[in-house]
Amino acid sequence: ARKKLVIGNWKMFKNATSASSDFSDFSNLIASQAHNIEVGIAAPSVFLADLVRKTQNSVTLYAQNSHWAPEGAFTGEVSAPMLKSMGVSGSLVAHSERRQMFGETNETAGARVGALIGAGMKAVLCVGETLEQREKGQLKEILKQQIEKAIQASGIKHASEILGADPLRPLLSIAYEPVWAIGTGKAATSVEAQEAHAFIREVLSNCFNKETSEKLKIIYGGSVKLNNIHEFISCPDVDGGLVGGASLVPKDFYDLCMKCC
Ligand code: 13P
Repeated sequence: ARKKLVIGNWKMFKNATSASSDFSDFSNLIASQAHNIEVGIAAPSVFLADLVRKTQNSVTLYAQNSHWAPEGAFTGEVSAPMLKSMGVSGSLVAHSERRQMFGETNETAGARVGALIGAGMKAVLCVGETLEQREKGQLKEILKQQIEKAIQASGIKHASEILGADPLRPLLSIAYEPVWAIGTGKAATSVEAQEAHAFIREVLSNCFNKETSEKLKIIYGGSVKLNNIHEFISCPDVDGGLVGGASLVPKDFYDLCMKCC
């Protein structure tokens, strides 16, 4: 069975003080409770050096983006080896906000995934269709392109590269986040989520092999809340959640995580 994975995406919220105290509160709550899930926070990169000292190994720290080159003349960017040197475990890649506002493509997404995996770090590749694409019946075509092109551009050749050392925690995960469900309060239904996740697993099976696709986690994002997370994780192909707004208050996000145990 796949271990459930729940990641809070803080996006561009909080300041040095609130990030620090909220992260401490959240990791204390998670550390206080025996559970069988994997919990992460994707924080703004400026806060990571501080937060990494407060994880108590109970919360996995992610960046929200990382560059494909190990170093170089890329003003304003942060690389995978830089994050690794601080003790950060991985990064989100190609969140829809980055695709829509910062020119992220499937090719740049893939290059970022390749750099993270190459550094032995976790990559959470975000995919998902816009409302217009869904209404035009392009859901599967879009998901297939987003995954296949990214994996091709990543340079990953063998399934063993993404599985990593711990079979319960593969290095590559996919987050399915339909753009129309992000921050809108209009989540996908569990039927819609299951349909997309099952298809994503099929695409992963074609890219690698069936056995590998069954080990990889596919998490759902888009208006996940305390009162709907259970419906999602009850779907056979939904392995957890990527949570925006509902991850910002420590006790609320802790309660949401505990619904996944
Ligand atoms: P919301 O949970 O606020 O809809 O955001 C989802 C998201 O984009 C997580 O990455």
